[in-house]
Amino acid sequence: MTTPIPATLIPGDGIGPEIVDATLAALDALGAPFAWDRQVAGLGGVQAAGDPLPQATLDSIRRTRLALKGPLETPSGGGYRSSNVRLREEFQLYANLRPARTVIPGGRFDKIDLLVVRENLEGLYIGHEHYVQIDDDPHAVAMATGINTRAGSRRILEYAFDTAIATGRKKVTLVHKANIMKALTGIFLETGEQLYAERYQGKFQLETVIVDACAMKLVLNPWQFDMLVTTNLFGDILSDLVAGLVGGLGMAPGANIGKDAAIFEAVHGSAPDIAGKGIANPVAIMLAAALMLEHVKLPDLARRLRQAIDETLNVDQVRTGDLGGKAGTAQFTQALVARI
Ligand code: NAD
Repeated sequence: MTTPIPATLIPGDGIGPEIVDATLAALDALGAPFAWDRQVAGLGGVQAAGDPLPQATLDSIRRTRLALKGPLETPSGGGYRSSNVRLREEFQLYANLRPARTVIPGGRFDKIDLLVVRENLEGLYIGHEHYVQIDDDPHAVAMATGINTRAGSRRILEYAFDTAIATGRKKVTLVHKANIMKALTGIFLETGEQLYAERYQGKFQLETVIVDACAMKLVLNPWQFDMLVTTNLFGDILSDLVAGLVGGLGMAPGANIGKDAAIFEAVHGSAPDIAGKGIANPVAIMLAAALMLEHVKLPDLARRLRQAIDETLNVDQVRTGDLGGKAGTAQFTQALVARI
């Protein structure tokens, strides 16, 4: 019998519980050996424990070092700080992996298989922002500070380069804007080129490209790329662009990886507009569960899960509304489980 793998489960807000239940049904059918510790966060955390990121949730992830997380609601403008950002900071989840593969063939962008590796802790997302008042306008000037460090750049670039070798990627594209932000993104470019020359030359091809050109090339000819590695803000934007190439957010999984913990999630949010209606597409978080299976060295189960998703969508043609189908979450899940 396989040893149980302790893992934290955060069903999340909005459609979270619906798509997480669907994923658990798929994982159970696969016989995945996760021993779940259910915890709350986000709006669910506020409602159950008066805290968007309760101590019990943090303690659980510290113990299991592994979590599957439904989307968490964050109020815009005022209110509490994003629990997602706090989780990344708390566990130093410095690498955000966003793979994009074509799951439904025959569309505008067929046979896409791209991996975006995004630095997750530094850059312009550190939240050092303020306004400067001039005369009677308190918002006359807005200022933001970005911080990229040599150590932080090296850590994510090493992760990306090692992942490229481990997964057989032939080319890594380092995306920057060092022609304009010469220091902030120049440090990332310089560190990447040095690291490649020191330890990785010949193991894969490294190319460097400016972010605006990269966006254009991704739309004109995404097949020229294999893996992208970039800083926080550019990675956030480009990974959504890449998700759009393969059918949108309902198909996009994400992994947040640190030295001591890893959290797997869908890229999309809690979709409050369709919550409770039973029509959400659970594929993105199921694909995140497949990444989690690979992370715990169960690649065969990950492959079977992806294959079942593929067959349900393409052979059975069972699809949710966002993909132009008529199936609800439960019907899709039933068809998927039958494929496992
Ligand atoms: P969203 O991703 O929740 O929804 C955008 C649109 O996509 C909506 O029309 C929604 O119905 C649709 N959609 C999203 N996921 C879907 C799915 N699985 N199946 C079918 N349709 C789907 O983005 P939003 O509305 O901007 O954000 C809602 C909340 O989610 C906010 O509080 C936001 O902060 C939060 N959020 C959380 C995360 C996360 O936890 N990782 C990520 C993004 C947004």
